[in-house]
Amino acid sequence: MIIENSKDTNMPELQNGSKVAVIGGGPAGAFFSFFLIDLAKRMDLDVHVDIFEPRDFFKPGPRGCNMCAGIISESLIQTLATEGINLPPKVVQRGIDSYVLYTSTGKTQIKTTIDEKRIASVYRGAGPRDLTKAKWKSFDGHLLELAIGKGARHKKAKVAGVNWRKGRPEIKTNDGESDLYDLAVFAIGVNPANLKMIEELQLKYRPPKTAKSHIREFFLGQDRVNEYLGNNVHIFLLPIPGLEYAAVIPKGDYATMCLIGNGVDGDLVNSFISTLQARRCLPEEVDPKGSCRCSPFINMKAAVGAYSDRIVFIGDCGATRLFKDGIGAAYKTAKAAATTAVFQGISERDWNRTYLPTYRLIENDNKIGRVVFAVNGFIKSRKYVLGGLLRMVNGEQQRPDSPQRMSGVVWDTFTGSAMYRNIFKRTIHPSFLFRFSWNTVREISPIGRNQATKED
Ligand SMILES: Cc1cc2nc3c(=O)[nH]c(=O)nc-3n(C[C@H](O)[C@H](O)[C@H](O)COP(=O)(O)OP(=O)(O)OC[C@H]3O[C@@H](n4cnc5c(N)ncnc54)[C@H](O)[C@@H]3O)c2cc1C
Repeated sequence: MIIENSKDTNMPELQNGSKVAVIGGGPAGAFFSFFLIDLAKRMDLDVHVDIFEPRDFFKPGPRGCNMCAGIISESLIQTLATEGINLPPKVVQRGIDSYVLYTSTGKTQIKTTIDEKRIASVYRGAGPRDLTKAKWKSFDGHLLELAIGKGARHKKAKVAGVNWRKGRPEIKTNDGESDLYDLAVFAIGVNPANLKMIEELQLKYRPPKTAKSHIREFFLGQDRVNEYLGNNVHIFLLPIPGLEYAAVIPKGDYATMCLIGNGVDGDLVNSFISTLQARRCLPEEVDPKGSCRCSPFINMKAAVGAYSDRIVFIGDCGATRLFKDGIGAAYKTAKAAATTAVFQGISERDWNRTYLPTYRLIENDNKIGRVVFAVNGFIKSRKYVLGGLLRMVNGEQQRPDSPQRMSGVVWDTFTGSAMYRNIFKRTIHPSFLFRFSWNTVREISPIGRNQATKED
């Protein structure tokens, strides 16, 4: 049922019986549906939500998977718990309690600073292509089930096109069905191939800037995962041009390798796999081709014009956090959009008023994130500075009661557990700068280097 708005200003808003189309049932689409229905119920508003999602998240391999490294940040786990969204043990492939940082001059291990804080590694789909028996459950599948549990309807179809009819978005699926909605929410991720469907809407929307990344799964079996990786995420800060950072993550019977940067291609992947540091993380006999691989796009800069009357873009196709905690950003944009739709309205002016601030917060934080990663890029090819960093982390890890200045900065940068501006602020604190400079000077001086050898 389509109901005309009743606002004096003639602005569209959701009313009893309004229909909402959510295109894409990944984290952003599932979170949005979950919160929209929940908030609407609290306002005694009866809305119908259809989630269009063609993937079967319970099928192994790329067809059932929204490719990603699958690290759920500790801050997101805690926030979701306060929303009543808990990750059941079947969804968590592994609880992560430390990060091992590999550089060209050595490695160090950083343990989670607060014991209760745990990071989870998950599979977005059922698991890699060669999975024979599913022991775990898909993260995206779990979120979608939660949204369905709230009352959303899952339409297992791909949206082929969206156009305007009678001033409202009309959704056409590839199985030939079409329907009119009061609000269309795009949660379609960043694959440029998905954008054809919005051409007819003639929006001001300009998609996010993207880069290619790479994910590869290696079957090791549980025992060898324990032996080679343990409960640790292995992070690599190596001077390979075009590679921002790489990670190897333990998940069930597999190790997931993830490479992110502006120049990730086949050659870069091969040069990373052949580094001594990467080889140490995987048994020698493992086939470097892996059992499942993909090269998904990653959002490098937010979309422009992410909303208009009756339309909003959330998650990766809108704004997301640079390199880290994209699922956390999907949660933030989804909740901000759902709150706006229920409490403000669904016009461009409404999104501008209550959705845009969240969007801007993410994008402004990414500007600082770019500086943080530029500094990482500088450090990773400077032997002594890198040595100073490792020395400072090692010292802090040996004295867990002392301030964990560098450990905290490295931890939060790579786990995505804190905003970039918070991380940056800590790096310009005089105590941080003094300790870092002191440790770097000790690296340069032969006396300091000798002492370090004894201490380490
Ligand atoms: C290499 C890599 C590693 C990453 N690692 C992490 C990590 O460790 N932790 C983290 O938090 N984030 C990580 N991210 C980011 C994370 O994957 C994204 O931020 C997150 O998936 C965004 O969720 P979304 O719902 O916006 O988009 P997506 O997860 O991409 O979901 C989009 C959905 O839309 C559906 N869809 C697309 N077109 C249509 C259509 N026409 N009709 C119907 N449905 C459609 C798709 O099937 C899909 O299910 C990583 C990303 C990459 C590329």
